[in-house]
Amino acid sequence: MSANDFLSGGFAPAPESADHFKIKKNYDLYIGGKWVKAAKRFKTTNPATGEVISQVALAEKKEVNLAVKAARKAYDETWSKMPAAERGKYLFRIARLLQERAREFAVTETIDGGKPIRESRDVDVPLAAAHFFYHAGWADKLDYAFPGAKVAPLGVVAQVIPWNFPLLMAAWKIAPALACGNTVVLKPAETTPLTALKLAELFDDAGLPPGVVNIITGAGETGQALVEHPDVNKVAFTGSTAVGKAIRRSVAGTGKKFTLELGGKAANIVFEDAPINEAVEGIVNGIFFNQGHVCCAGSRLFVQESIAVKVIKKLQKRMETLVVGNPLDKNTDIGAINSVEQLERIKTLVKAGQDEGACLWQPSGGVPRKGNWFKPTLFTECAQSHRIVQEEIFGPVLAIQTFRTPQEALTKANNTPYGLSGGVWTDKGSKIFKMTTGLNAGVVWANTFNKFDPTSPFGGFKESGIGREGGVHGLSAYCDLKI
Ligand code: NAP
Ligand code: MG
Repeated sequence: MSANDFLSGGFAPAPESADHFKIKKNYDLYIGGKWVKAAKRFKTTNPATGEVISQVALAEKKEVNLAVKAARKAYDETWSKMPAAERGKYLFRIARLLQERAREFAVTETIDGGKPIRESRDVDVPLAAAHFFYHAGWADKLDYAFPGAKVAPLGVVAQVIPWNFPLLMAAWKIAPALACGNTVVLKPAETTPLTALKLAELFDDAGLPPGVVNIITGAGETGQALVEHPDVNKVAFTGSTAVGKAIRRSVAGTGKKFTLELGGKAANIVFEDAPINEAVEGIVNGIFFNQGHVCCAGSRLFVQESIAVKVIKKLQKRMETLVVGNPLDKNTDIGAINSVEQLERIKTLVKAGQDEGACLWQPSGGVPRKGNWFKPTLFTECAQSHRIVQEEIFGPVLAIQTFRTPQEALTKANNTPYGLSGGVWTDKGSKIFKMTTGLNAGVVWANTFNKFDPTSPFGGFKESGIGREGGVHGLSAYCDLKI
């Protein structure tokens, strides 16, 4: 691939180097502290070029059974018996090892998933390390997290994660589970398995006892076999609402605990008294961060009617400057769409938006020839009933509507099956309180967007799921609390 294959957006190309480490040609399954071969393999590709990066083992029922067995053995014999302070030391060690290999993890994440290196370097990897640090601190303090309760682990936890934040989601799931004394079997998404497998290498380097974390790769069937395994005590799932519903049906009546972090269709609400330039940056960050492959993306913009023309003009001007292209280039704002399937889904919904009468606008620049790309896109003239307003697109596509009063904004914003996140932009504290309490969403940002921190619980209402991850609320989902 030459630098000329990509548009540099007026900047000289500044690609991050990928020759300081190796991605192996083949990866096996990490079970019981060993690398275990499987009968079949599947390919993972670089969505920016279409090139195959590596062949990864496909875990079938037999391997799922092995992994759950290894996790049970480690739970019974080692991890649940270990003094909590010792568990914490392992987590601290993992966090530090991740920091040491930060560049390798960032580059791998970008090559496997298509996100801009600036994001994997400055958001995904540091936040993943922060989750291990934060939960390391809790390991021997759980009695203080839940005063008056007798805190015990749950047992073996099955964890299934999506492709939009592969390493970060793995850290969100593994760190609290281990801190609370559980053992883990984790299945990353089919298109982005590599950073979870590299995480397994770190566990080895950290001397984590065999079987405490097992990483099994595969597609949906592997995930299904894992969550349906009878010897699993808890299921932690992040992914689509459709699969979340199927999982909820499958765990019903089994006594398994579960948390579901599902889709979203966040309202980002801008009032006429907001600092407009900052709000425009917040809108861009809200919807174009990680190509819009973000469950809490601000995909529905509500602008107060009096400033709508001004905001849309400024937004379009800003969108003209966004650099779409080589994800490994440090200038890139918008990387590759994660898979051909996801690109098709985005195109289908964008076509539905046009067919239903919304007005499409895209910046004038092109996109690279090879790979999966979609230009940052906005729609005006949207109606509440349009599919692009109701359905999660999970791509760089913004649906804009206007409102006149705070109540109208709230009514429109809450008219969605989802309830994950929201944003409010205003100069008035009283308006912030009215909107944040009125929005039916698990996380609401005021005068900012997409801010994450391990201390802060994250999760949704309605079709966005059940349970919280992060903070003390997130810990409670991995503990058996006897009051
Ligand atoms: P998905 O199709 O539901 O897949 C999520 C994970 O589940 C993947 O590892 C997938 O494997 C696996 N899977 C598929 N079918 C399964 C089944 N029947 N049983 C068990 N596991 C199964 O979702 P996605 O398209 O990868 O991810 C995008 C979705 O995730 C969006 O809706 C987004 O909003 C949501 N998300 C939510 C949050 C949150 O915190 N609320 C965060 C990030 C993403 P394969 O990938 O191999 O098919
Ligand atoms: Mg890939």
